[in-house]
Amino acid sequence: MADAHLSPEEFRRQGHRIIDWIADYWDRLDDLPVRAQVAPGEVAGALPASAPELPEPFDALLHDLDEVVLPGITHWQHPRFFAYFPANSSPAAILADLISSGLGAQGMIWATSPALTEVEQVVLDWLGEALGLPEAFRSGGPGGGVIQDTASTATFTALLAALHRATGGSARADGVTPDLRVYASSQAHSSLTKAVIMSGLGEQALRVIPVDPRTQAMRVDILAATLEEDVAAGLRPVLVLAAAGTTSTGALDDVGTIGALARQYGAWLHVDAAWAGVAAVCPEHRQAPEGVAEYADSFVTNPHKWLLTTFDCSAFWVRDRAPLLGALSLLPEYLRNPASESGAVADLRDWHPQLGRRFRALKLWAVLRSYGISGLQAHIRGGVALATRFADLVRADDRFELVTEPVLGLVVFRLRSGDEETLRLMESLNDSGVAYLSHTVVEGRTAIRLAVGSWRTRAEDVERTWQALSERAGSG
Ligand code: PLP
Repeated sequence: MADAHLSPEEFRRQGHRIIDWIADYWDRLDDLPVRAQVAPGEVAGALPASAPELPEPFDALLHDLDEVVLPGITHWQHPRFFAYFPANSSPAAILADLISSGLGAQGMIWATSPALTEVEQVVLDWLGEALGLPEAFRSGGPGGGVIQDTASTATFTALLAALHRATGGSARADGVTPDLRVYASSQAHSSLTKAVIMSGLGEQALRVIPVDPRTQAMRVDILAATLEEDVAAGLRPVLVLAAAGTTSTGALDDVGTIGALARQYGAWLHVDAAWAGVAAVCPEHRQAPEGVAEYADSFVTNPHKWLLTTFDCSAFWVRDRAPLLGALSLLPEYLRNPASESGAVADLRDWHPQLGRRFRALKLWAVLRSYGISGLQAHIRGGVALATRFADLVRADDRFELVTEPVLGLVVFRLRSGDEETLRLMESLNDSGVAYLSHTVVEGRTAIRLAVGSWRTRAEDVERTWQALSERAGSG
């Protein structure tokens, strides 16, 4: 059979076409409906039931990309994508990610590609410094940073390290015991619940602390009382999670007070700043890392959310890497090598659940260099300014109300007339394709979330979205 690899010439030709395709896609985004318009099964139904027996020309794939895939895509890079939290991409990140694919290197241990590990360490040191994170989190100190696929994995990893520390290693050797407890507010991200399940602790181990109805931040007095009761009952606090920017409303827990309590009871403090943390590139937006310098054992924030770095790229730091490595280090014979045994290098496979790892640091490196800190600050400030503008429009209209005070790029609002009307309004806008918003429930009432953050969003996109909402809201 003929060689099925693309020839070098064909690879170049198709590569140029694909870059053109992406650039053209961005140009026409404005005219595409933001949310995918397909019915369940429609995309799968347009594809053959089996893989082709014989090689197909690459053009056939590009044809299906336009005809079959694109209608089933929700356009996360659309200037009026305001749902969930943003998942920024950017030209620089995409090109660097392509290089990562081109290199195809596996960085499971230092020896399998030294540059992959060392660039990652340096880039996370840079980012940690840019976010104002403590010196202890740098790779030259007792801690260090690593890129995880997602904040969910980072939180799971933090819990494994915390379990190792709290049990003096017996969790790793003998498994977990039913007396171990984990604490977070009712507004903490569901990834903590998943981490508790995956760790074997079971959901019974999770103490859900209520929030202040006004701020949606954790009631630290209730945390204090719960810790005290648990310890008096012979239970062992393992980890407290402080949410620095909750998913629903962007609420900021009081990291300093929570951290002091965690320390008092010997628990690990993990700060989940998945969305809000990257805003700390701006000194005036350092609310999320407040308290981190003094108390946090670990911190996670996602450049793949709001810092222009194509998914997946979740930055995770620990103050002390010893419990993390204690929890997860393994050295099977086939990975034994002099560099690892010298202790002079980091083997990043010990910093997360999986072994294999791609060169994700390249895209973050490209973003930091291509934008510079000043460019990243401008991106964050631009998003905050647009959200502030939108919040002003909501405030000025009697039919609407803000549900919580806006946080950074997130505005949570509703129609005064009620839950059904609020949800109907959002669905009507989403169905129109003009913009895409998501909803939440705050204190039992439905609310709409508008999260600004796309690198393509301009003032006119926010105005147009407001206008479309306003027209559909009728008399309220
Ligand atoms: N933590 C918070 C506060 C989030 O808002 C999210 C996602 O939106 C996550 C964690 C989970 O992020 P990931 O998709 O990277 O696991």
